[in-house]
Amino acid sequence: MNIRTRLTLSMGVLIVFIMLVLLAVTHVQFYITRDLAYLEEKEAFESLRKEFEQYYRSNGDSWENLRSARFESAAPFVEIVLSAEGQILYQQGELSSDELRSDGYMLTLDQGDRRIGRLYVMNEQQYKTYEFKTMWYSMLPNIGIASLLFTGIAALLTILLLSWRLTSPIRKIISGIGTIKQGGAPAVFPEQRKDEFGAISRALREMNDSLAEAERTRKQLMSDVAHELKTPLMIIQGELELAHETGAPMTADKQASILDEVLRLSRLVHDVLDLSRLEAGMTELHPKEEDLVALLEDLLAKTRFMAEDKEIHLSLHAKDEAILVSVEKFRILQALYNILTNAVYYTNAGGQIRIHAETVHLPDRQQRYARIRVEDNGAGIAKEDLPHIFDRFYRADHSRARPGGGTGLGLAIAQNNILAHQGWIEVQSVVGEGSVFTIYLPV
Ligand code: ADP
Repeated sequence: MNIRTRLTLSMGVLIVFIMLVLLAVTHVQFYITRDLAYLEEKEAFESLRKEFEQYYRSNGDSWENLRSARFESAAPFVEIVLSAEGQILYQQGELSSDELRSDGYMLTLDQGDRRIGRLYVMNEQQYKTYEFKTMWYSMLPNIGIASLLFTGIAALLTILLLSWRLTSPIRKIISGIGTIKQGGAPAVFPEQRKDEFGAISRALREMNDSLAEAERTRKQLMSDVAHELKTPLMIIQGELELAHETGAPMTADKQASILDEVLRLSRLVHDVLDLSRLEAGMTELHPKEEDLVALLEDLLAKTRFMAEDKEIHLSLHAKDEAILVSVEKFRILQALYNILTNAVYYTNAGGQIRIHAETVHLPDRQQRYARIRVEDNGAGIAKEDLPHIFDRFYRADHSRARPGGGTGLGLAIAQNNILAHQGWIEVQSVVGEGSVFTIYLPV
């Protein structure tokens, strides 16, 4: 059932309900006035009753000639008297006996214990409401039909207007969604509305924006990956074509350079895959309790040869003997490895890299955190590059000149790994003085 039909039906039900209530109110009002009139005019009613009973007695226990009798208290009333058997003995006023019998106030006429008749009365006030009631009842069918017709038309018009006002934003929203589906012109939603439609529209706009952003990122990633793959592939292709055309055996140097490019390609593909999985939340963590100090010692043992090659002094300063954290060893080692090898790469020969590990209590957090700082006195990072270094494929030096050829994915992978462990990374750096990467992990 669409909104328009639902509205029409509920309006119809409402109209019928209002008519029934009106009817019931008039009906009830009449009987309330009738009984109130008795209370108000109790004395007059009672004296009338007495006059009739008196007549019966003084007439030798008989109602004979009652029709021609006149009663003092009768003037303001419309009344009839019925015998005990229901026969009409006396009638005054314009109402029929049936009308009086059904709507008048009944008083019994008794002689001692014996019922001698019944008196039906109606005072002026009752009579007025009675008139109104009968008028209303007689007009009701016509009024009912006319008002049903009128309210029907009015309701239909209101419904048309209302449903147009209700459904027009819905139609706009549906058409906006249609535009999004087709991916063409920008979707238009009734966002300026202050009602629920405005709220839905704004939510849809936000959803659309974030989908568009995701789509932009996907396209950017595709183009970045293609760009990164192109150079090594071109080098490999060039070398192989040359060897093929000249037929000359490939020198060891050339073979080493091709191997270098193949390794770079393989690292790139591996990193892209790893990062996509991390970003899509597809990497399931299997955390175990690990000692961070032991992990760092292990890492240092594996990377010391790189530092020694460049005559860089590498040192670990742990405040505690052990710092226990619940992590997946491989993921944390990968993040620390990427940060540490960066420090080695971007620090000149004779430089220094110091790693500090401790647990800290941060003022705005309840939990204690393990803090690992990797400090180098290398090249540093320019202010304008700092906000971007965790972006995919971002290289502050804008070249692939790094020994071993960085993919520009190292820090993005490190950050995703740390974020997946409810931690975060901060960086401070001054060009020419060095950089400090700080990792926080909940203990
Ligand atoms: P890459 O593979 O190029 O190292 P990363 O994501 O690891 O990519 O790093 C992004 C960029 O951040 C690097 O290209 C480099 O310019 C800068 N960077 C990272 N670590 C350091 C550091 N310790 N000192 C100076 N620059 C750094």
